[in-house]
Amino acid sequence: MQIYDSYLLKALDVKLPYSADEEEPVFLRCLGSMLCVWVSRSERCAGAGVERRILPDLVVSADSNRRCAVEIGAFDPEHSLAEPVMRMLRNLTGQGLAMEGRDFEWGQPRDSRKSSALPSRLAELGHRNVEEYLEVRKKEGLALNSAFGLKGRRLEFDSGFLESTQGQPLLDLIAQLRPRLAQDPLRHPFDVAVRCLGWRVDDSMLEESLQRQLTQGSSFGFGGGSSPPPGKYPKMESGYQAMGVPGLYFAGSLGHGRDYRRSAGGFIHGFRYTARALHRILRRDQLGAGWPNRTFELNEASSRSRWMRLVLERINEAAGPYQMFGELGDVILFQQSSTGLLAEYLEELPMAYAQEDRFLASKPRIIVSFNYGRRFNMPLTCPAPER
Ligand SMILES: Cc1cc2nc3c(=O)[nH]c(=O)nc-3n(C[C@H](O)[C@H](O)[C@H](O)COP(=O)(O)OP(=O)(O)OC[C@H]3O[C@@H](n4cnc5c(N)ncnc54)[C@H](O)[C@@H]3O)c2cc1C
Repeated sequence: MQIYDSYLLKALDVKLPYSADEEEPVFLRCLGSMLCVWVSRSERCAGAGVERRILPDLVVSADSNRRCAVEIGAFDPEHSLAEPVMRMLRNLTGQGLAMEGRDFEWGQPRDSRKSSALPSRLAELGHRNVEEYLEVRKKEGLALNSAFGLKGRRLEFDSGFLESTQGQPLLDLIAQLRPRLAQDPLRHPFDVAVRCLGWRVDDSMLEESLQRQLTQGSSFGFGGGSSPPPGKYPKMESGYQAMGVPGLYFAGSLGHGRDYRRSAGGFIHGFRYTARALHRILRRDQLGAGWPNRTFELNEASSRSRWMRLVLERINEAAGPYQMFGELGDVILFQQSSTGLLAEYLEELPMAYAQEDRFLASKPRIIVSFNYGRRFNMPLTCPAPER
């Protein structure tokens, strides 16, 4: 199932889960070209500008390379599985190459049963508690993870020691045993680690003065979502035109600068609609063409019902406002004509553009758009059916 899942998730095996404020990843080359990965608490890491004690007898100076205390556990030194590690550790200690307190330390294992995430995870699987879960797995002949047994102790190493020439054989041994000793998602060695640290718009094609104007200085936001980091997106007006630079427009994921963390413009399924809106804006603003529209005479019964059908159809099926919620909206303009009231239906305009445009803003209008409700990320509760 894991292989199948990984395949479906474009071969992403593990997304390294850590909280960047308090933790950091540790990558150690093991088993030849593999990578052994840990996440350590930053307070257990030092070097690269920080001096700190990371093991009882190990103070890492600020000018040394970054190193952290990394742990394996729950580790039962008496268990036959642990035998090869214990033997190698004793040998290294006997030769004065590994010292308890300086290169490694024993501690109490973390109680995985106390994890705050565990009860909800078990409930999702349909179990009331850990005991019931273990019982079912045993009955069904499924693998039992010994970490639940809470046997053994936590064994922590200085990562600097493990990657040293003396520590390398021990690291390789741990790499082989860790999948059987630990239950964290990083327990298997990895072939490749990819660090994705984000990106910024490449403004090298712009003149220097434009670079300063469009991509430097304070960040910008358009209400609702959070502001992008400074320089990530070019500054744009509501119609995707560069701020103060007539004739320069941005499309694709750069257009997401307008709806950053608010809508789906950072993805193809979102920006295919903002790119279409840009095309319509260009036709309108540069060529003087109108926005594609359908007009209905509301005084005439069949036209009025066609209009109502269109409104309902769009609410049920419109793809652009659905994907680009809170950003693109359908605009219905009303105006008087000699034959009575007219409704003009315009699809998928950037709402800010529609509000800023003098012509559109001067007409009585309805804007149809979607947005998540304020409680959209709360569990849904169904009201009791009314009798
Ligand atoms: C791992 C991953 C998974 C993703 N999965 C999804 C997904 O499932 N669904 C989804 O909707 N989106 C997904 N996305 C996002 C989506 O792929 C991107 O948002 C999209 O490809 C961006 O398209 P774009 O045309 O704006 O930019 P790009 O695809 O980056 O195209 C920009 C082009 O401009 C070229 N270029 C740059 N500078 C110059 C220059 N000076 N001169 C000439 N050419 C230049 C580049 O070579 C590039 O070809 C994913 C992205 C990643 C990284």
